[in-house]
Amino acid sequence: MAAEETKKRKGTALLAVMDENCSSCAGSPICEAHCPVDDCINLVYEELPQGGLKPYRVFVDNDKCIGCQMCYSEDLTKIHQHKETGEIYYEYANRFYDRDKKPVPPDAMPKKIQLQLIGTESEDRLDKKICPWDAIKMYEFEDGLEVSEFFYNKSKIKQVNGLFVIDAKEKERLEEKQAELYE
Ligand code: SF4
Ligand code: SF4
Repeated sequence: MAAEETKKRKGTALLAVMDENCSSCAGSPICEAHCPVDDCINLVYEELPQGGLKPYRVFVDNDKCIGCQMCYSEDLTKIHQHKETGEIYYEYANRFYDRDKKPVPPDAMPKKIQLQLIGTESEDRLDKKICPWDAIKMYEFEDGLEVSEFFYNKSKIKQVNGLFVIDAKEKERLEEKQAELYE
């Protein structure tokens, strides 16, 4: 656990938070398929009163999220930096642009291995959002930590046979907290 707690977070200053609009995409989260970080977006099941489990929502592991926004929008410009020269390249819809946003001719492009993804820019266009329920919001990291507590707390989510599960008590606690948020 100590190693888990001291782990350094890499990436941009942003954090993705999934709110109460999340429907879990009926157990097949679309956002999870877009996330480049393993086990960062996780499906949570709820325990049913009669026994058994049902997909509930997803939660983000705040220690793992690198703030890349890939779960958030498809209208992203990726920002790459050349590992040796420090030169910046913008990538949008598989095309590369230089610092002045002029297209880079293919013969002037560095090899992909020489480039490092250092961030993204997003126009936040509604029709390009990944989540069909608009349940994903990007926050400055510290603000995101606070907001996420209204929707999930990893330490209160149980693991049952390798699945994340929230029990009825925790679900009620969160729903009461969420009611406060919108008062
Ligand atoms: S895409 Fe939206 S509704 Fe689907 S699992 Fe992700 S946050 Fe939830
Ligand atoms: S911002 Fe990036 S790392 Fe964070 S949850 Fe979304 S896709 Fe995953």
